[in-house]
Amino acid sequence: MEHPENSEEYKGLVVNAGVEQPSSVNPYMKRKPRRRQPTAAEFVEGILKGDVTMLSQAVTLVESVRPEHQALAQEVIAKCLPYTGRSVRVGISGVPGAGKSTSIDAFGLHVLEQYGGKLAVLAIDPSSERSKGSILGDKTRMEKLAVHPKSFIRPSPAAGSLGGVARKTRETIFLCEAAGFDKIFVETVGVGQSETAVHSMVDFFLLIQLSGTGDELQGIKRGIMEMADGIVINKADGDNLERARLAATQFRNALHLFPAPESGWTPKVLTYSGFYNLGVKEIWDMVYEYIDFVKANGYFEHRRNEQSKYWMYESINEQLRDSFYHNPVVSSLLELKEKQVLQGQLSSFIAAKELLDTYFEEMKI
Ligand code: GDP
Repeated sequence: MEHPENSEEYKGLVVNAGVEQPSSVNPYMKRKPRRRQPTAAEFVEGILKGDVTMLSQAVTLVESVRPEHQALAQEVIAKCLPYTGRSVRVGISGVPGAGKSTSIDAFGLHVLEQYGGKLAVLAIDPSSERSKGSILGDKTRMEKLAVHPKSFIRPSPAAGSLGGVARKTRETIFLCEAAGFDKIFVETVGVGQSETAVHSMVDFFLLIQLSGTGDELQGIKRGIMEMADGIVINKADGDNLERARLAATQFRNALHLFPAPESGWTPKVLTYSGFYNLGVKEIWDMVYEYIDFVKANGYFEHRRNEQSKYWMYESINEQLRDSFYHNPVVSSLLELKEKQVLQGQLSSFIAAKELLDTYFEEMKI
């Protein structure tokens, strides 16, 4: 069919040849070789010198899913291990809106000013939308710390299984410690299981709460309260001051109902305002008092050892799971078995056994 545009009368549509434009890509750029990946020894040397760029690159390797990156990351971590452990690791948890970002900014500045040293702020947020390209997001969340020369802020590893995300954060702790960071904050959103994950890698677990409608205790799970070494009620300022004090009393009363913690430490409940920087000193006096207390009674070492043990088993579980689900024969059978179970042709148990037998058979080769 003839297009009317091609008719002589459509003069307006004639396209002129125009001027030839140079390529927008600089031809010299193309020839530039890609930057070489540092070797494990170079990473370790950089990290031990406190080179933050090297540290960041190593953390990126830890977070990568590529097997060659993982292998290199593990080598770097292994070489850094002798230089780890000499920090105070604090987990900070609270529901969205509790004021974690505001508080961490205030807490961070306080500890750096009061105790010196270097602070790394990490996060565990498996559900995170935030973790997608959010370095900037985290930097604006903690405005003052982000520009502090002694701080290193790293958002949560990208969304994945909680165990996987948490393991990466724990490995990042080691790298930060080797780089001379002697204070580590691990932040987590106080919803669900992530508190347990944070608890499994920190020395002190700080729970940020809000005073509210008088139902403070209802929304918070018993297990989480039991994990807390300190509960702090934020936004104790202005009109809210009285309510915050009341909430603190309720939490104190509730804590009495729990069995005494293994550490021998009685968890404290304090009120503060992250925004107005009130009561922040008292919180950190408490944290350091706790550290002295558990170092003296041996619980500090004990808890770290228990955590290492926990993570050994976690790693085994994670690797077995990965190896199983990534096995091509197993994964090709999964859908079929699932269907058979749903249609009542196979029991769940038999289906699982058949898949596992297939896996074990595969692993013999
Ligand atoms: P996050 O979601 O837990 O990280 O909470 P944010 O730090 O983003 O704080 C949530 C909101 O609470 C923000 O609007 C803050 O300005 C406000 N906020 C945080 N800390 C305080 C505080 O101590 N007092 C008051 N009045 N508001 C606060």
